[in-house]
Amino acid sequence: MASIFTKIINGDIPCHKIAEDDKYFAFLDINPVKEGHTLVIPKQEVDYIYDLEDDDLAGLNVFAKKVAAAVKSACPCNRIGVTVIGLEVPHAHVHLIPIDKLNDMSFEKPKMNPTQEALAEVAGRIRSFM
Ligand code: 5GP
Repeated sequence: MASIFTKIINGDIPCHKIAEDDKYFAFLDINPVKEGHTLVIPKQEVDYIYDLEDDDLAGLNVFAKKVAAAVKSACPCNRIGVTVIGLEVPHAHVHLIPIDKLNDMSFEKPKMNPTQEALAEVAGRIRSFM
């Protein structure tokens, strides 16, 4: 069965898209830990990120680098935190999170639940820097 992220790539589940190319896709996390929290995924459905072939892993990081620059421009912060967890969704993904302090990266505190309108506004702002 297709992962929830494959369904997002295919447009079967809506998302607030940031960018895509033939191999990679970026969109806002639906429950961000910080405004601008973006997920970057390979279109290839692989659960564990280090099961990607080396070239695909490298490409994912290069694609994420471009997205991170746009997130940083749209959501001013000290830096973009980068993390991989993968305990919830079995489709490899990189979290890009605008942070000013360590706690901004915490997944243990309650996550945000922004409105669709708020997510759309943030996504539009990030896309304007792509
Ligand atoms: P992880 O697998 O790295 O532990 O976490 C998966 C992340 O995907 C979570 O931060 C969660 O909020 C996000 N997520 C789960 N389902 C969806 C969804 O349907 N749409 C979007 N945009 N994000 C999701």
